[in-house]
Amino acid sequence: MNAFKQLGLEDHLVQAITDLGFETPSEVQEKTIPLLLDNDSDLVALAQTGTGKTAAFGFPMLQKIDINSRTTQGLILSPTRELCLQITNEMKLYGKHCKGLNVTAIYGGASITDQAKQVKRGAQIIVATPGRMKDMISRRLVDISKIEYAVLDEADEMLNMGFFEDITEILSYTPEEKSTWLFSATMPKEVSLIAKKFMDSPVEVTVGHKNMGSKNVSHEYFLVGARDRYRALKRLADVNPNIFSVIFCRTKRDTQKVAEQLIEDGYSAGALHGDLSQNQRDVVMKSFRAKQIQMLVATDVAARGIDVDDITHVINYQLPDEIETYTHRSGRTGRAGKSGVSMVIVSKSEVRKIKSIERIIQKDFIKKEIPSGMEICEVQLKSLANKIHDTEINHEIDPYLNDINTLFENVSKEELIKKFFSVEFTRFYNYYKKSKDLNTPSGSHTENYRADDNSTRFFINIGSKDGYDWMRLKDFLRDTLQLNQDDVYKVDVKDSFAFFNTDAAHKAKVLEFFTDFKQDGRFINVEITEKKSRDRNRGGGGRRSGGGGYGGGRGRNDRSKRSGSRSEHRGRRSDNNSSSRSPRRSADFKPSGGNDFSRARKSRRK
Ligand code: AMP
Repeated sequence: MNAFKQLGLEDHLVQAITDLGFETPSEVQEKTIPLLLDNDSDLVALAQTGTGKTAAFGFPMLQKIDINSRTTQGLILSPTRELCLQITNEMKLYGKHCKGLNVTAIYGGASITDQAKQVKRGAQIIVATPGRMKDMISRRLVDISKIEYAVLDEADEMLNMGFFEDITEILSYTPEEKSTWLFSATMPKEVSLIAKKFMDSPVEVTVGHKNMGSKNVSHEYFLVGARDRYRALKRLADVNPNIFSVIFCRTKRDTQKVAEQLIEDGYSAGALHGDLSQNQRDVVMKSFRAKQIQMLVATDVAARGIDVDDITHVINYQLPDEIETYTHRSGRTGRAGKSGVSMVIVSKSEVRKIKSIERIIQKDFIKKEIPSGMEICEVQLKSLANKIHDTEINHEIDPYLNDINTLFENVSKEELIKKFFSVEFTRFYNYYKKSKDLNTPSGSHTENYRADDNSTRFFINIGSKDGYDWMRLKDFLRDTLQLNQDDVYKVDVKDSFAFFNTDAAHKAKVLEFFTDFKQDGRFINVEITEKKSRDRNRGGGGRRSGGGGYGGGRGRNDRSKRSGSRSEHRGRRSDNNSSSRSPRRSADFKPSGGNDFSRARKSRRK
């Protein structure tokens, strides 16, 4: 007997499953479908996206509702418009043999009148985002007072996005005696709270471990200097010629920048973030689905609705603020039974976060090396050879073959192959032949710095006491100073002060900007620190008077003290020990050489 029929599904639904090509039920389907068909109980299911959870609640709902009635009986709430549309499409496919079925999507950014019309035609199932749903309820355009099944899909995401109040309000318009099915990838406190508040002794189903990512995903991390992040990203893309990936950045600004840089460098990339219009986002997603975009650079929020099954790699260009978010990111790959890789590019100061993530996902990361230039050349060459080997001959070239054959009359097959491959190889080789090793030796978790003529180290009188960690401070500096991605680096935050570097070219801009710069009524003081060797010779000097913070009420005149430079090490005791005097050299702290790979990539595509 068909495995889905064995779960208790009726023939017309089994037929739709066969049409879709599903052969065996996934774990979450096996666990929930019989349960939901046989009982009217509430359910909490912990399952990632990509596990087949839409079908797990979709099929039981389709079987249980009365298709002959035009009353709305099922409500599915989802966090984003993309997910809402995706669920609606899936439900329509699952119910394609249910005559008279009307599944309506309700989401923001589209005509509310059209949606209301569709509902009025008799939508047995409504799939909605909370904001638009609330709006339609308040305008009396929907009636959910008779629903029998409510699904809260990606509950953790909905709560992350601040929909708690909206969900509470929406559910207050639904009958008490309905069944509520909650699906969530993770189980933070807030989700347990929702389960307690809205559900009656729910049955709990867990697919894999709580908070654990898909078993089809392997996790890798690459330790690089903070300034080499982008170069590392490019190498990861180059060493995987068939990459089809989502690249996660922390901010909209970084997302846009990285995407722009990739495009400029000749990669097929696109940006997806909240500052784009809905229309722009739709265009990007359409290109990504059609695989015209190989690298989609996205923020966490914008990526929530991505429902593409064949993503080969997720690249964490930057780790998320909340490490729990990592589970969601890595869940974008390894879907629908396929395998995937989740890569993390980290600098030394972030590497400890890998351990915390390992605890959450209950899986170990593999530490990998950023490939060398020659390794990339080799991979690219082999990939090209395979591509040529598998290429079907286009006979449109036949009329020109005579001329070509004459040209190569005296060239042997071996020589021809060598020449042919050299065309492509030389481009990569020229770019990579002098490339440096991007891997940073692990060990110390603090970022070393060496002052040199190309870089300036600054002292700033704000620190962790003022709510900054290195990431926040870096964001703050880049945003206020209008600097580019990775223009601020070697950020080292202490209790009440911090240090950071910029290229010497930005020195004047930084000092100028922070002349009389006030935040919350307090002066923020930025000064140049001394170079380490001089500092060492001067010996320790104790912490600056006034105890740090925002400068503790110092007056404007104190600005004149800027001319005296700050020493990063004045908190240390004097160390005349010659062995510790030599400046620590960090391999990653070199001015970035110009690269012409961008030109190579671009011309390659012409
Ligand atoms: P979901 O977790 O609901 O987002 O589903 C992920 C993808 O898996 C969707 O494209 C589904 O169409 C597909 N899918 C769901 N159930 C199965 C199954 N039993 N076998 C194969 N693919 C499935």
